Amino acid sequence: MTSSFLLITFAICQLIIAVGPSELLRIGAIDVDGYFSVHPTELASVSSDFGMLKSPEEPLAVLHPSSAEDVARLVRTAYGSATAFPVSARGHGHSINGQAAAGRNGVVVEMNHGVTGTPEPLIRPDEMYVDVWGGELWVDVLRKTLEYGLAPKSWTDYLYLTVGGTLSNAGISGQAFHHGPQISNVLEMDVVTGKGEVMRCSEEENTKLFHGVLGGLGQLGIITRARISLEPAPQRVRWIRVLYSSFEVFTEDQEYLISMHGQLKFDYVEGFVIVDEGLVNNWRSSFFSPRNPVKISSVSSNGSVLYCLEITKNYHDSDSETVDQEVEILMKKLNFIPTSVFTTDLQYVDFLDRVHKAELKLRSKNLWEVPHPWLNLFVPKSRISDFDKGVFKGILGNKTSGPILIYPMNKDKWDERSSAVTPDEEVFYLVALLRSALTDGEETQKLEYLKDQNRRILEFCEQAKINVKQYLPHHATQEEWVAHFGDKWDRFRSLKDEFDPRHILATGQRIFQNPSLSLFPPSSPSSSAASW
Ligand code: FAD
Repeated sequence: MTSSFLLITFAICQLIIAVGPSELLRIGAIDVDGYFSVHPTELASVSSDFGMLKSPEEPLAVLHPSSAEDVARLVRTAYGSATAFPVSARGHGHSINGQAAAGRNGVVVEMNHGVTGTPEPLIRPDEMYVDVWGGELWVDVLRKTLEYGLAPKSWTDYLYLTVGGTLSNAGISGQAFHHGPQISNVLEMDVVTGKGEVMRCSEEENTKLFHGVLGGLGQLGIITRARISLEPAPQRVRWIRVLYSSFEVFTEDQEYLISMHGQLKFDYVEGFVIVDEGLVNNWRSSFFSPRNPVKISSVSSNGSVLYCLEITKNYHDSDSETVDQEVEILMKKLNFIPTSVFTTDLQYVDFLDRVHKAELKLRSKNLWEVPHPWLNLFVPKSRISDFDKGVFKGILGNKTSGPILIYPMNKDKWDERSSAVTPDEEVFYLVALLRSALTDGEETQKLEYLKDQNRRILEFCEQAKINVKQYLPHHATQEEWVAHFGDKWDRFRSLKDEFDPRHILATGQRIFQNPSLSLFPPSSPSSSAASW
């Protein structure tokens, strides 16, 4: 007790020294039902993230809120203080480039549903929705909703991410072609704005805020509650992988599959690129072995790039006989290498939680907590073939150091009013280069090598005029952010001025100038973007 009091006092003194005015003493006096922590282990843990790419900058304190009002009290204090210190919500810290960090003058709000008694998911089966705390993990949302035989419709590949964290980006997986990203499946939210107000927003109420927060990179408010739309949960999944040696045939089949709208269609469409035979360190490889071994060499005689289409059909136990026929009908339309069909059948929950198994495997080999120089791009359909030639068959060489996902989505499933940014074409692809760096690996597995490859990929796209957009974006300059948002920039900046005028929130994204660097709130539009 005494030591934590001393630590808090020390942190406050540091805050005053670092930021200045004495009203910041109020941070220690904020009356919350949760608690503040300045424990060194905790400060260290919230200053790092999954990417492990940045040298950690420890915040002054961590708030464990027990309600939206706790979050609002902190933000009101930050907003009301002379220097407006940063406040960043942290979901599960699965960002790559320090996006959930608050910097050394800031306070991190640990949103993860922990010991402070944040609200439990509230399910309304009659209305087919669930209300969840913004820091709830998707895996827990799934567990709770399955108790009612229901589940959200749109997912991410990995479920140990928070609702607020993925809704601040988009939340995509193989269901997005049909259901849209997770941000297209939200009915209502409670949001703490940068002024410390708790605002309810939906399609009918505070509409601008509602759409702005979705995909808004945490810039307009902290999501404390989200109402997620549900559907009856399937019980089982038929999970199929097939291989292609021709990129054109592969993408033609993917595009055909996402154009299907009737009853009879696959429920999930993804894919990945195989540029090396090793598939080492690749969580996707577990599918092929050991019961279902695949010899890549048996389908690829010259070691060239292969493409794997990944599709699933959901079903209920009572439909187990018809699923075979449905899959057969759907597969007949595809042009994969005939000898390359790999099928497995599993519970719905095990399919959705598949990446966690791979995580446990990688953790056991000390390969999970390593730097992750990930690069996620949305590539317009009209240029995906150029991307293949320049990147998969060019820049990558024959080593990948991690999975490379590729799958198309339909733009009409994305709400243009959201802050999420996508290319200007009806169909675009996610290309996700999910690489891990090793300190003691080969040269091609080292962090600097992989970062340089990312830089070359972005340069190639620029030179070839392939108008890619980064997903989970990371940009270094004002010009890059303005270009990233494109047509959406003016609206986004004006929403920022309205809902977070002192640029308190999610400063780790480095879009707007950090408030602790300036004594006065920015007033003119030209001063509201970061300049460094
Ligand atoms: P954090 O990284 O903690 O936060 C991300 C940003 O959101 C920060 O700016 C933070 O300040 C802000 N934020 C956090 N919580 C809130 C809140 N409640 N309100 C407002 N702002 C908030 N993404 C996909 O779309 N599809 C995938 O399939 C997918 N798979 C992944 C697999 C792995 C193994 C990993 C590590 C990431 C994956 N991601 C995927 C990326 C993931 O969506 C992002 O990392 C995202 O940031 C969510 O992570 P988080 O909940 O840990 O949020």
